[in-house]
Amino acid sequence: MALIVHKYGGTSMGSPERIRNVAKRVAKWARAGHQLVVVPSAMSGETNRLLGLAKELQPALVDDAALRELDMIAATGEQVSVGLLALALQAEGQPAVSYSGWQVPITTDSAYTKARIASIDDQRVRADLSAGRVVVITGFQGVDALGSVTTLGRGGSDTSAVAVAAAMQAAECLIYTDVDGVYTTDPRVVPEAKRLGTISFEEMLEMASLGSKVLQIRSVEFAGKYRVKLRVLSSFTPWDIAIDEEAQSGTLITFEEDEKMEQAVVSGIAFNRDEAKITVVGVPDTPGIAFKILGAVAAANIDVDVIVQNMSHDGRTDFSFTVHRNDYARTMALLKSDVLQLTGAADLIGDAKICKVSIVGIGMKSHVGVASTMFRTLSEEGINIQMITTSEIKTSVVIDEKYMELAVRALHRAFGLDAPSDAA
Ligand code: ADP
Ligand code: ASP
Ligand code: MG
Repeated sequence: MALIVHKYGGTSMGSPERIRNVAKRVAKWARAGHQLVVVPSAMSGETNRLLGLAKELQPALVDDAALRELDMIAATGEQVSVGLLALALQAEGQPAVSYSGWQVPITTDSAYTKARIASIDDQRVRADLSAGRVVVITGFQGVDALGSVTTLGRGGSDTSAVAVAAAMQAAECLIYTDVDGVYTTDPRVVPEAKRLGTISFEEMLEMASLGSKVLQIRSVEFAGKYRVKLRVLSSFTPWDIAIDEEAQSGTLITFEEDEKMEQAVVSGIAFNRDEAKITVVGVPDTPGIAFKILGAVAAANIDVDVIVQNMSHDGRTDFSFTVHRNDYARTMALLKSDVLQLTGAADLIGDAKICKVSIVGIGMKSHVGVASTMFRTLSEEGINIQMITTSEIKTSVVIDEKYMELAVRALHRAFGLDAPSDAA
């Protein structure tokens, strides 16, 4: 008998029929003698619908007072889900109780819409488990020191589940979703993508941070910090398959790097369409310029990703960086009003139609020429690289958004990641 955390995403919770299926699966695990904590997301489309309603009443939604209300609204999606799932479990003859974040409580800081979990009190949950109940806890939400409801950022139910697993020292955290594991790239973009039986924690962290939304990055960080045994698997297998078979399916996030060293140099390809590029043209090439530009951006609490400064000509240079697309208009306005004057730059150019494509693999540590294969592949497709950034286990390029799928497919093929075709 073990304590296991299950997480079910929005599609898996998308209708009463699917919720019934989740309940049957969870009840099967409970009947096998396990203690179950289940963390569901809102039903698919619900969080978008709620955020859309909020935007109708206040399109800008920038200050803390507004963001607090946004969290109050967005968190209701998960509250509906936990209640429905607990009812479905009871209907299966499995005692169950639901809690929202503040009832557990899962406490967070007050960074509305992107709060971080500070602590989880598991007393109440443990009492229920001991009494033979399945405990269903809302994903995505918590409560701050003021008692306000907070949310953890889009995709945050993954993080809720892993954090609960860490706090309760669960034997395993199973992330049930609408694909049957982590693939070499998003299988919706590249049908030839292959499922990985295992992926190293380091690679998963990069894939998540570079845009693979199969796991929210903070969930992977939690798993690493607390060594949570984490597996991504399908919620669409028949609910009554044998537990042993189910427990071996999908993709396991591993912490042993050595296992992977013999494998592919590049393990996966990630992409992100959520960024925008800003270029400050003709800034005087003098000490402190980067600070003047990026300091102002940071002071407005805007995260900057890729940064490139060119060689100077005649004492002037161009300075480019990317921000999240949601922050694009705000950053442009900020730079226009302050930074152009402050730096004496000639112009400001923005481009929201870019994307970032990245190759990821711990094998890159010990192989040279990986980045050049990437650049050659893109050049053969006639794709212009606008920015490049590298680390030990990844290389990212910023390119025109319209070439994204072409680039991902070409790189997937070039690094030998395509699954062998059936005809072969
Ligand atoms: P959930 O609602 O279950 O949290 P998400 O939509 O957040 O599901 O995440 C699952 C989706 O992630 C898949 O449907 C797939 O399109 C996408 N995805 C992106 N990159 C990958 C990848 N490398 N492997 C598997 N799925 C990926
Ligand atoms: N419902 C939230 C979202 O759509 C959280 C999640 O699904 O993980 O982002
Ligand atoms: Mg998700």
